[in-house]
Amino acid sequence: MNCRVEPPSANMLGSKSDLQKPLVVTMLAPASQCNQNCPRCYLTEVRREPVNSFTLTPDHFARAIEELSDSGINILTVCFQGYEVTLPGSWPYLDAVFQEAKEREIRRSFLTNGMRLHTYAESIIAHDPSRIGVSLDGADQETNDRHRGLAGAFKRTLKSLDLFLEEAPDFRDRILVTSVLYGQENAHSLLEMPKLLAAKGLTKWALGLEITSDDFGHVLHALTLDRLSEFLTACDIESAKHGISFFVGDEFGLIDGEIADLHFVKRLPPSSVDFLRILPSGHIYVGNESMKQVASPTDPKWRPNEESIIAYLAKLGLPLNETDLDQDVALVQNSDFVRDDKNANIPL
Ligand code: SF4
Repeated sequence: MNCRVEPPSANMLGSKSDLQKPLVVTMLAPASQCNQNCPRCYLTEVRREPVNSFTLTPDHFARAIEELSDSGINILTVCFQGYEVTLPGSWPYLDAVFQEAKEREIRRSFLTNGMRLHTYAESIIAHDPSRIGVSLDGADQETNDRHRGLAGAFKRTLKSLDLFLEEAPDFRDRILVTSVLYGQENAHSLLEMPKLLAAKGLTKWALGLEITSDDFGHVLHALTLDRLSEFLTACDIESAKHGISFFVGDEFGLIDGEIADLHFVKRLPPSSVDFLRILPSGHIYVGNESMKQVASPTDPKWRPNEESIIAYLAKLGLPLNETDLDQDVALVQNSDFVRDDKNANIPL
């Protein structure tokens, strides 16, 4: 739950995609630069690895949406979900994709560290995204800035949010502040988040969990299960007290069953969709591969000047039959995506 890419979520692990389900298309902004320097960001690795270097243009990104949609695939939403899209070199990607998606009435959302949100207020209003995720890893300056690797990040994000909301007050309910729990490092500060958001007039907060695994595939996280359970309960109570809707990221599903009271939090991504991720390097991943953000040298790349994205995906062995539209409508109506449009659970 960050502007960088999340770890694989529970409902994706082990799932093999065939793109028969409604599709969530996630995209990464070019990763060559960022205005923050989060210590745990994969950006360092991407910068070091030339295989990830950028090759696709904004038009290629838009064309991918056009071709997928024209082929009959039901795209539920497009989301810029990695690196920082509000930088001058990255915003044209969002511009091109959102314009294409809006014409096709496909939902649009993006994640940002929020420091330059106000810069694009006019463009954001025009693109009319259903959700904007803003990353804050602490409710105080010291904690947040330590985890964002930049002194002043906290103030700049809050200032930019204020300026943006002055221009676009109707977007208040569309902003979902996202935080990652890094165990004891920021737990105390995160408990203050609902109060901070309420003071800003914001209404939604989503919590993700930093998860790693050991050599044996055991899931590791920074708090003991008892402590984690207590912490989630406290977040839920604090959120309710301040009128904040509290969500947890799907990675909590990895420890589902181990925490008896996990059910009290609302879950983000539904399992009834497929994910497809497009990287500016031309790498495209689907299903359980779609959380990958650092390509390996042997991974194939889409070359849009030589083939359509449909032909490329077919070459990878993904059947792209047209989805049954009647079935899709039923599925979408039953999913968390559109049960209540204003408060829809959108994967970010
Ligand atoms: S703000 Fe920048 S450095 Fe931080 S996680 Fe996002 S892309 Fe990485």
